[in-house]
Amino acid sequence: MTQTTQVPTITLNDGREIPQLGFGVFQIPPENTAEATALALEVGYRHIDTAEMYGNEQGVGDAVRDSALDRDDIWITSKLANPKSEPQEIRAAFEETLQKLGSDSVDLFLIHWPLPTRAGSDFVTRWKVLEEFRADGRARSIGVSNFEVAHLERLAAECEVVPAVNQIEVHPYFLNDEVRTYGESHGIATEAWSPIAQGGVLDDPVITEIAERLERTAAQIVLRWHIQRDSIVFPKSVTPARVRENFELFDFELSGAEMDAITGLDRGEAGRTGPNPNRFTGGD
Ligand code: NDP
Repeated sequence: MTQTTQVPTITLNDGREIPQLGFGVFQIPPENTAEATALALEVGYRHIDTAEMYGNEQGVGDAVRDSALDRDDIWITSKLANPKSEPQEIRAAFEETLQKLGSDSVDLFLIHWPLPTRAGSDFVTRWKVLEEFRADGRARSIGVSNFEVAHLERLAAECEVVPAVNQIEVHPYFLNDEVRTYGESHGIATEAWSPIAQGGVLDDPVITEIAERLERTAAQIVLRWHIQRDSIVFPKSVTPARVRENFELFDFELSGAEMDAITGLDRGEAGRTGPNPNRFTGGD
């Protein structure tokens, strides 16, 4: 069998199984995305995380089509672009996503940001359109990204489908625990974006000390920490050696003390690197 057998899956609240480790393509230029994705597939990744706003869904679709793999053996996630708020434009954008991916369906489609203060952009309206895509089978699973507890509570009160995942910023300097704990108790799996804080946690002495002791890289230590916390991760890299390194996470384990030492690095809100979802208005 291929190396994919090494990657555990997480069972989502709709019964579907997502590979716990994937490959993120944020900030990979569109013209380089097919090549980067092809390498990831060759290494063994079977889960790709893209978004309408990354502008590179086409490259992901091209790499999947040109690989020798069955479409059904690859999990593809994409996300609704922030400016889309009217049902008709959301439907049109989703059709474009499928077209670019060259597929009849996407495995997981997310609302990228809640945008609670953006005029004319209600996330409940947007979620109800995603529920349509799930009902007609074109989105096999649906979820959200960057949702805070209050946003999830509103969905629970006003909508039918509970999001399968919430994709949020999580890394050793920003545990985002309130949101993560809400997800755990409501059947919403946590996907941790920027899992190595775009490299920002890799020089931390607590992490480098564990890495030296276990003869692993700092990135492997941090990614393994996420895996043992049951998060879903998809590190991004355009460096072939790192793409390979980030996949080698399943032949070692962190002890409870090592896990606790990394968890202890949390800086709370000060550790956040991205926008605060309560205030972010999403750009144009
Ligand atoms: P990551 O935490 O994955 O870090 C990526 C950066 O770290 C790149 O600069 C990469 O460099 C470097 N890097 C990767 N692997 C290693 C390694 N082994 N050693 C040293 N450096 C390394 O950041 P991302 O922000 O890209 O997050 C991952 C994915 O999460 C995204 O691609 C996207 O899919 C998703 N995401 C979602 C967001 C959302 O709002 N929903 C927001 C942000 C990200 P290089 O490429 O040069 O090798």
